[in-house]
Amino acid sequence: RRNSSGCDLSDPTVLNPLLRRLADLEAKRWTAGEGSGARHAITAPFDHRIIVGEAVEATAAELDAMLRRAHAAQGAWDALGGEARARLLDRTADLFEAHREDFYSLCIREAGKTLPDAILEVREAVDFLRYYAAEGRRLFSHAHRLPGPTGETNELRLHGRGVWACISPWNFPLAIFTGPVAAALAAGNAAIAKPAEQTPLIGALAIALMHEAGIPQDVVGLAVGDGKVGAALTAHPLIAGVAFTGSTAVARAINRSLAERDGPIVPLIAETGGQNAMIVDSSALPEQVTRDVVASAFQSAGQRCSALRVLFVQEDVADTMVTMIRGAMEALTIGDPRLPTTDVGPVIDAEAKASLDAHVAELRAAGRVVAERALPAEAGQGSFVAPVIAELPDLSALSDEHFGPVLHVIRWKAGELGKVIDQVNATGFGLTLGLQSRIDTVHAEVQAKARVGNLYVNRNQIGAVVESQPFGGEGLSGTGPKAGGPHYVARFATERVKCVDTTA
Ligand code: NAD
Repeated sequence: RRNSSGCDLSDPTVLNPLLRRLADLEAKRWTAGEGSGARHAITAPFDHRIIVGEAVEATAAELDAMLRRAHAAQGAWDALGGEARARLLDRTADLFEAHREDFYSLCIREAGKTLPDAILEVREAVDFLRYYAAEGRRLFSHAHRLPGPTGETNELRLHGRGVWACISPWNFPLAIFTGPVAAALAAGNAAIAKPAEQTPLIGALAIALMHEAGIPQDVVGLAVGDGKVGAALTAHPLIAGVAFTGSTAVARAINRSLAERDGPIVPLIAETGGQNAMIVDSSALPEQVTRDVVASAFQSAGQRCSALRVLFVQEDVADTMVTMIRGAMEALTIGDPRLPTTDVGPVIDAEAKASLDAHVAELRAAGRVVAERALPAEAGQGSFVAPVIAELPDLSALSDEHFGPVLHVIRWKAGELGKVIDQVNATGFGLTLGLQSRIDTVHAEVQAKARVGNLYVNRNQIGAVVESQPFGGEGLSGTGPKAGGPHYVARFATERVKCVDTTA
């Protein structure tokens, strides 16, 4: 099931034809949405001049009509059963694989991803489709018999709740766009998917392929637009659940909107931001720490929710570690994500760049920056942010999530591991935590005390392999259940129990 769309980029017989195909696809213009709403050109984050396609925003009337059609279609979809739905999701996964180069091209040009990140993105989306299809088979194909008193049978069945709104961010424009929609559909729901306003073209292709696979048009719809369209969706009385991935602030806004609207009481699954740390003690292996820190902090230009933001390093090894990390940071290639040699591409847009630049300027003014990459000359056209390392005395100056390639380093003294964990917990976020140590008691203490969803020990902290590494946080980082885990699909369903008196 895994690595289904993987490809070996070190093999020139694989890489060269792929690059030629991607170059051909550059001429292709895409469209997301249809109808009479406002139109926007979508440009590539690496230069803001290349036009990738056009987005047509859904109007309020079009959104309302789409929701009504989905609501009307959901009962038949639910009645179809887990097996038939799973077959259509598996067929969608096949089509995603067949169209992988279109997705790579879009991930690079619309989202500014590097080629390896684009490949991972498609692989994860395919894995979500196949895993949630299998979960649908497991949970929805039969009644679950429950123990009961003699003379009674008790059974529980899972059903779709209705129409889910699935609202996604730009940083995983295919995988996180697809995952919640696939789970909602596997569980017998209809779904309206809202891609981020920065990446609607990838979402539009994903939905088109779901339709091509045979999932009825009315059962899964695409709502193109910005936060106003997202807000209209969650406020609509026909929505039976909201699966949201994005910032903590928007999750709060959705919670308020759900509390105030008419209609049924509905669940919110929220997967939100992080203030992710890595704890390094003096037993850790410097080469491994260096490799894992650089991957965790700078890969994907730091635009992963799991990315490393704060490195807590034990004082006596801090100079060595920071020097080595700085050396590895200086060896990264920054630039055009269309080139296979690029390690760090652009951030998503000018607004993200401005916010990160302002944060780095503050760190610089406070004398905190210890290493900073220069940007290549061609970066002037695009929204590039150079990787930065800054040292802080503690976490008090860092309340927001800075979503880019900025690594903050804090030194800690031997014997103060407990205080470090307290600082991590005090952020209120609880998404990922890295630990680099070869001492078993340290592993045990961190695992027992850290309130985080995903702890990564002696490795980088950015992987989330579907089924093996269910992913998601707690506290300010989200509600759970974990994406790609065994409790996810069931949360999109409602439970109905039938009790029969067999003596009657
Ligand atoms: P965002 O919160 O700005 O936007 C996310 C989505 O919500 C977009 O589609 C947006 O249009 C929509 N939206 C905005 N306002 C809305 C409203 N009032 N009502 C309904 N929808 C609304 O986030 P972003 O900038 O797209 O993504 C980055 C954020 O996502 C970071 O905080 C990152 O940590 C988080 N993230 C979390 C995970 C996770 O699994 N925990 C994964 C990826 C990204």
